[in-house]
Amino acid sequence: MMRQALKRSKLILCRTKMPKTKPIPDNLGFGTIFSDHMLEADWTAESGWEQPIIKKYAPLSISPAASSLHYGFSAFEGMKAYLDPDKNIRLFRPQENMKRLQESAKRIGLPYFDGEEYLECIKELLRVDKDWIPQEFGNSMYIRPTFISTDPDLSVSAPSSCKLYTILSPVGAYYPNGFKDISLHVSNNYVRAFEGGTGNHKVSGNYAPTLEAQKEAVVKGHQQVLWLNKGNISEVGTMNIFFLKKAPLDLNRLGERRNKYYQLITPRLDGTILPGITRDSIIELVKQEKREIEVIETDYHIEELVEDVKNDKIVEVFGTGTAAIVSPVGSIEYNNETYNIKNKVGPTTKQLYNRLLNMQYGIETDINNWSQVI
Ligand SMILES: *Cc1c(COP(=O)(O)O)cnc(C)c1O
Repeated sequence: MMRQALKRSKLILCRTKMPKTKPIPDNLGFGTIFSDHMLEADWTAESGWEQPIIKKYAPLSISPAASSLHYGFSAFEGMKAYLDPDKNIRLFRPQENMKRLQESAKRIGLPYFDGEEYLECIKELLRVDKDWIPQEFGNSMYIRPTFISTDPDLSVSAPSSCKLYTILSPVGAYYPNGFKDISLHVSNNYVRAFEGGTGNHKVSGNYAPTLEAQKEAVVKGHQQVLWLNKGNISEVGTMNIFFLKKAPLDLNRLGERRNKYYQLITPRLDGTILPGITRDSIIELVKQEKREIEVIETDYHIEELVEDVKNDKIVEVFGTGTAAIVSPVGSIEYNNETYNIKNKVGPTTKQLYNRLLNMQYGIETDINNWSQVI
């Protein structure tokens, strides 16, 4: 038998007969409320992809021996849908999430699926549950595509059956009480990622081991972990990180400044950094719109950062990710020494946050067509 491909044209819609009551928009929180429907597609090595189906949101039934539960054959994505002022549903660079899920899947032996076709299925799910997408600016619909193995087989081997599913969760604005900075604790005892590992993929196994370090940060009175890899700055919590630094004055022979006033430093994608779509968007935006800032993707050692903060060169620090978009960093604690960032919530951080947020809701110019009406 020919292996079947995953196709939007085969999608079956099976509406729930018992729609749930929708939540009050003031208090959505993050990821605890789910919409009426989910999207599911099963795969077997023998026959490929079965028909994708949109059906009632309900518990899964899988074998207790399923290798996803034992060995972490599991990957996911995090993306959002937004309602714009004309009540159109918008997605932000969703093709990038599909590509990343394909890459994550490949890394852990899960099969290929057509990203464009699957994205069309997700769009259909959003249309079916459109009434669940919060209307208030700042609120949105979090989309969680998940890819797991389902074969009941305790050997550690390439999965022969899998499930690709997507659930939707209406979520509240990340900053209900205003844009606020966080404090970081540099972990010396744990690493999130290492060369040759899976840090550059959104595979489930990367996350549970971070909780011990997170606990350590909270015990010390901080909110998030600043991860290092061999002393180099890696990421913050589950976000990418950026440092806005005053550039050293560089003069030409005529005594004219020949470099930009600021540098925006972020760790280079060396295989240990999760290639965030927000990270990439910030880099592109700064290149396109901030003439006074040079973006530098490089290794940045914690000792170098400490020197730069001591010398008053670091003016702003922020993390980036789909949930928060931009998260300002106010202080960094390293070896029991606290380093305060000059601007706890800096003007550039704020501008970039507002620019991306407004773009996502379709209310500001977007020459890259990142925000797409579905
Ligand atoms: C998802 C994730 C990010 C952010 O990626 P976005 O595409 O910007 O949401 C950064 N770091 C880690 C570890 C992540 O899992």
